[in-house]
Amino acid sequence: MKQLIRNARLETGYQTKDEVVIKTNTEITDLLIEEGHFTKIGPHLQESADVTIDAKKQLLLPSLREMHIHIDKTYFGNGWQAPIPAKNGIYTRLEEEKTLLPEQLEVAEQRAHTMIQHYIRLGHTHIRTHVNVDPQIKTKHVQLVKRVLQDYENQITYEIVAFPQHGLLRNGSEFLTILEDALKLGVTHIGGVDPASLDRNIGEVLATTFALAKKYNVGIDMHLHDRDTLGAFEIHRILDFIEQKKFSQPVTLSHAFALAGISDNELDELMQRMAENKVDVTTTVVISDENLTLPVKKLYDNGVTVSFGHDSLTDHWSPFGTGDTIQKLNLFIERCGYIDEYQISQSLRYASGGITPLNEQGEQVWPKIGDQANLILVDAVSSAHMIARQCPISTVVSAGEIIYQTDIALKGAYRG
Ligand SMILES: [Zn+2]
Repeated sequence: MKQLIRNARLETGYQTKDEVVIKTNTEITDLLIEEGHFTKIGPHLQESADVTIDAKKQLLLPSLREMHIHIDKTYFGNGWQAPIPAKNGIYTRLEEEKTLLPEQLEVAEQRAHTMIQHYIRLGHTHIRTHVNVDPQIKTKHVQLVKRVLQDYENQITYEIVAFPQHGLLRNGSEFLTILEDALKLGVTHIGGVDPASLDRNIGEVLATTFALAKKYNVGIDMHLHDRDTLGAFEIHRILDFIEQKKFSQPVTLSHAFALAGISDNELDELMQRMAENKVDVTTTVVISDENLTLPVKKLYDNGVTVSFGHDSLTDHWSPFGTGDTIQKLNLFIERCGYIDEYQISQSLRYASGGITPLNEQGEQVWPKIGDQANLILVDAVSSAHMIARQCPISTVVSAGEIIYQTDIALKGAYRG
């Protein structure tokens, strides 16, 4: 298959004045895609193709990645329902799940479809979903999610985290058999949640988690809500395990609130170890007055990869989360006080798997010949414009295939 995108706007560099970036330079060009990869980029390409897209001067950017969601236990796609107050914190939710998830089982598959289609419309070509494995649901959700995601195999890539939401040890040894059954079904990661506060046994939880990850050759993505020195201690213990076991599969810390609340010295030490061990972080960009917002740029500057995720699109845990990652980026820049073209523009990396058209020096680094053609067309004139004004996506392309396209009235730079 050959696809030709005509009249696309590519970012080519930054315009500076008095050493300050004041504008992103762009050029209108054509791009040829063959077998899912860019093979020619230049103006007025004289090529024939099976499919031709006229971008009409829309901005061509890397597609987005949703790196933390639970597509198996959502209210999304159903009527409005707010969560009930969590009088006993996480234990309220776990108690609720014992009956709620079996009740929702009948509609869970349809809701997962609705959610994935929503993510595709909003420019995502990759989703990492955590999927409950607990004493009630057992492996049913993993089976269901695998079935649903298989339907989108030609549209998106995905990762599935077998997630022992109700703890690893506190439900007895028979639960470990259930978790192993889930891992045998074929997932990419084993999950976890607060080994110190939920199972109250950091060493045993981590020993079991790392042993299972090694046995089934999967990565680890652990929810860490524990804060301050307790959370920092958990992260150090995870790093100890990685080093001692020479664990080479990817390890992600989701939320990792501790990184927001410890001293600069403690943070420096943790960031150095995380960078050395290639441990990355996923955050929802928490808006709270409780010191929960991660120092995202500082982590990045110290070599720790940070990705964004929504975690919920309205479920029994939270009424928030929209699946709109451009909105998430907008929230992030407002939270950080980023108002200039350069800082806003570079923030795209947290939502695109690290890809930005311009690197930190302003050199054009994407798209290049040979890159996989995962892209969006946006009615914007720069990445910064898209993020600051939340400009709409008209087209989503995954490995060269159009997976979503809609007509929007194009306004270019005049889009508010
Ligand atoms: Zn989560």
